[in-house]
Amino acid sequence: MIEIKDKEDCCGCWACVQRCPKQCISMKEDEEGFLYPHVDSTQCVNCGLCKKVCPVINQAHPHEPLSVTAARNIDEIIRRQSSSGGIFTLLAEKVIKEGGVVFGARFNDHWEVVHDSTDTIEGIAAFRGSKYVQSSTGDCFIKTEQLLKQGRRVLYSGTPCQIAGLKRFLQRDYDNLITTDVICHGVPSPGVWQKYLSEETAHQINKGRFVYFRPFRKDEFRIINISFRDKYTSWKQYSFTLSLSKTNECGESLCYRRTREENIFMRGFTSDLYLRPSCYQCPTKELKSGSDITIGDFWGIEHIMPHLDDDRGLCCLLVNTERGQALVNSIDAVQHEANYKDIIRYNPSLVRSSEIPSKRMEFFSGLPKYGMLRTTERLTRNPFILRCKNAIHNSLKKLGLR
Ligand SMILES: Cc1cc2nc3c(=O)[nH]c(=O)nc-3n(C[C@H](O)[C@H](O)[C@H](O)COP(=O)(O)OP(=O)(O)OC[C@H]3O[C@@H](n4cnc5c(N)ncnc54)[C@H](O)[C@@H]3O)c2cc1C
Ligand code: SF4
Ligand code: SF4
Ligand code: SF4
Repeated sequence: MIEIKDKEDCCGCWACVQRCPKQCISMKEDEEGFLYPHVDSTQCVNCGLCKKVCPVINQAHPHEPLSVTAARNIDEIIRRQSSSGGIFTLLAEKVIKEGGVVFGARFNDHWEVVHDSTDTIEGIAAFRGSKYVQSSTGDCFIKTEQLLKQGRRVLYSGTPCQIAGLKRFLQRDYDNLITTDVICHGVPSPGVWQKYLSEETAHQINKGRFVYFRPFRKDEFRIINISFRDKYTSWKQYSFTLSLSKTNECGESLCYRRTREENIFMRGFTSDLYLRPSCYQCPTKELKSGSDITIGDFWGIEHIMPHLDDDRGLCCLLVNTERGQALVNSIDAVQHEANYKDIIRYNPSLVRSSEIPSKRMEFFSGLPKYGMLRTTERLTRNPFILRCKNAIHNSLKKLGLR
C-alpha cells in the first residue's frame, strides 16, 4: 500500500484514491495546507494497485514535441479572458461541438480550486484562466473512465502531474481521450490560498469603510470574481484582481487590483514560498506527462518574433502526439512556426523544477503566528532602494507625469 514518507514523493493527483478497490484511501490536509493520501490499513488487502497507478513511482521518459507554434485565438474577447493566447478555449469548443466532454479547473462556491467537467460551450468559461492554486481532482478520473467506456470523446486538461496521474489511473490508451496540460511552474498550497483570501478580504473591507464613512461587517460582502491573470494593464504586466460586492444592496462594490509585483499572494507564489514539495522535484518535466498537447505563455516573443508581440497574450503550443496534431489542425487559430529551444530558453519551467527557497521554512513557521499577509510581505519585501524608486514612480504616475 502507498505510504508517503517524503512529501516530495506525492504530487497530489488522487489516482491512488480513485483506483483503490476497497476505497480505503482518503486525502487529508497537512500542516502546510496540501492534501496527501492516507490508507486505512484495516481495510487494505495489499493489492498494490495504488502503487501501480502512482505517477511519481512510475515516471515516463522525457521527449521532444512533434511541432511548436506561437498561437492565439482570433476572438479578442476570449483572448482577453484567457491567461495567454486563448488556445485552451478553442480546443475545448471543438471537442464540445462534436459531442464530447471537457474537464478543467474552476472555482467552487468557496473559491477553492476544483476539477470538474462540462459538455456545454458556456461551461468552458469557468475553466478559462489560470488559477494559481492546486486543484482537487476529486472523482474526475473515475468519471473520465466511465465516459470513455461509453464511447464519449473526452478532453482532459490540467497540470502535467494530473495528466500523468490520469494516464496511470486508466492503465490503457483510449482513442477517444485527448489530454492537454500547461507548462507548470508549480502549484501553491490551497490552505495558504484560503488564509490569503480571508485576510485580504477583511483588509479590503476595512479600507473600504473609509470610502463609505461607516464600519462594514465582513458578512456584508461576498466575492464575485477573482482573476490571477487580469490583462487590464497588459499581458506581460498582468494583475491579480479580487472583486467584492455588497450582499444586501446592488450597485456597491469594491475592486482590488494589483500587479503581480505588488500583490502579496502573487509575490509569494513567484518567490516559490508555498509551492507543493513535489514541485521542487517535479516528476513530469520535459514533457514526461504523456499529454497530447502542452500550452504555455510565449514568454520572450518580443525577442524571438517581435512582429507577433501585441502584448495581448500569446500561447506557445507544443503538440506531442499525432492525436494532438489532428485536434490542433482542426481549430481555427492564428499559428506561426516556432523553435523548441527558444521556448525552453524563456520558459525554463518546461524542463526544470523550481528551487526550494531558503525562506520556505520561515514562511510556514511564521504563518500561524503572524498571518499570511504579514509573513509574505516580510519575506518578499523589495530592497529599500527599489521601494523608494517604486514610490517615486507611482507618485509620478498619479500626477500624470509618467
Ligand atoms: C499552476 C499553473 C502554473 C503555470 N505555470 C506556467 C509557467 O511557468 N509558464 C508558462 O508558460 N505557463 C504556465 N502556466 C500556463 C499558463 O498560465 C496558461 O494557463 C496557458 O498558457 C494556457 O493559456 P490559454 O490562454 O490557452 O488558456 P486559459 O484559458 O488561460 O487556461 C486555462 C487552462 O488551465 C487549466 N488550469 C487553470 N488552473 C488550473 C489549476 N490550478 N490546475 C490545473 N489546471 C488548471 C484549465 O483547466 C485550462 O485547461 C501555468 C498554469 C497553471 C495553472
Ligand atoms: S494496496 Fe490495494 S487495497 Fe491497499 S490501499 Fe492500495 S489499492 Fe487500496
Ligand atoms: S502522487 Fe498521486 S497516486 Fe501517487 S501517492 Fe500521491 S496522490 Fe497517490
Ligand atoms: S510543478 Fe510538477 S509536481 Fe508541481 S504541480 Fe506542476 S506538474 Fe505537478
